[in-house]
Amino acid sequence: MLIYEYKLDGSKEQCDAIDEAIRIVQFIRNKCLRLWMDERGITKNDLQCYCAVLAKEYPFANHLNSQARQASAERAWFAISRFYENCKSHQPGKKGYPKYQHDTRCVEYKQTGWKVEPDGRHITFTDGCRIGRLRLVGNLKQHIETFPIKQIKRVRIVKRADGSYCQFSIQAERKIEHVPTGKHVGIDVGLKAFYTDSEGNTVENPRHLRKAEKRLKRLHRHLSRKQKKSSNRKKARKALAKGYLKVSRQREDFARKLASTLVSSHDLIAYEQLQIRNMVKNHHLAKSIHDAGWGTFLRWVRYYGGMHAIPVVAVAPQFTSQECSVCGALVKKSLSVRTHICPSCGVVLDRDHNAAINILAKARDRTLGHRATGTPVSVNASGQTASTRRAKRATGKRAG
Ligand SMILES: [Zn+2]
Repeated sequence: MLIYEYKLDGSKEQCDAIDEAIRIVQFIRNKCLRLWMDERGITKNDLQCYCAVLAKEYPFANHLNSQARQASAERAWFAISRFYENCKSHQPGKKGYPKYQHDTRCVEYKQTGWKVEPDGRHITFTDGCRIGRLRLVGNLKQHIETFPIKQIKRVRIVKRADGSYCQFSIQAERKIEHVPTGKHVGIDVGLKAFYTDSEGNTVENPRHLRKAEKRLKRLHRHLSRKQKKSSNRKKARKALAKGYLKVSRQREDFARKLASTLVSSHDLIAYEQLQIRNMVKNHHLAKSIHDAGWGTFLRWVRYYGGMHAIPVVAVAPQFTSQECSVCGALVKKSLSVRTHICPSCGVVLDRDHNAAINILAKARDRTLGHRATGTPVSVNASGQTASTRRAKRATGKRAG
């Protein structure tokens, strides 16, 4: 699945129409959730049928395209099934009981209710919400019109702090011919350096949020000084949201470019399977950990790994920083000790460099082990063996 995104250009009335469509989506999703809470044994199919009932009962809901209504019921089911899954797998901590939404930001159409013009620069929404014809603003190199309509599986309108965007999910695969480099690499992500690889190279941590903090603090202050419900407050809120949007885009851009370079210059990549959720519990580090954005980075590494068809292997984090990468002795050290000094063999390495070597060694053991049992190594491409559930969720999110 490829996602193409354009910014939408439309009038004030059209923006209001988009808001109205999104409100209907939220209404249907929450109604479906309510039904599930009230009655026992509700299935996905029941929710689908309930959409038609709602459209009859509430005339305004009928304005939205019927498949878009179905899509909102699917969103509700998605939240419910994720909750079930977490319960079944006995995930520690919160199970994510589905909640009502009050800040829905997108409306999703399937294959009806919209039309792309042959020039590929305009889209018209044809349902009762009266969104009408909108101009697609964006990268001229993205030619949406070159894809047959059948391949466009979903069209979503997403609201962001700086306007509305249109996303097209296109059923197509992007394959890149990987040029073998003969190099394998293990990476250890950290706070001091964004990552350290098994060769001892480091990539500096960009700290986008820390850098923007001063500006954001000022915007926060502006907002808190404005009177409640005033139009100036609305403006200040928008400015603040834009500030955060910028940080998240910088982070995404950094992660994506770095992942692409890493994948195209190696034939195997090993990383540590981090439990970021647990790490964030440490309040002193929470902000820095979020700001680092390893989750985003590793998702892109897996994504590019799949595209290049090279193995991306996640290894368990146990002992990677304690074990000596030369002789295998356990050298206990706390987080603050930055250097690995082995008393058995006398090797001195940077702590993260030592960990990265261990990570690579673990991954090599694993892939060789897989080969021995007859499973082709390509199964490992995109790191699916180690983190099937996570990887699935990540791709599911992109696809859905
Ligand atoms: Zn040693």
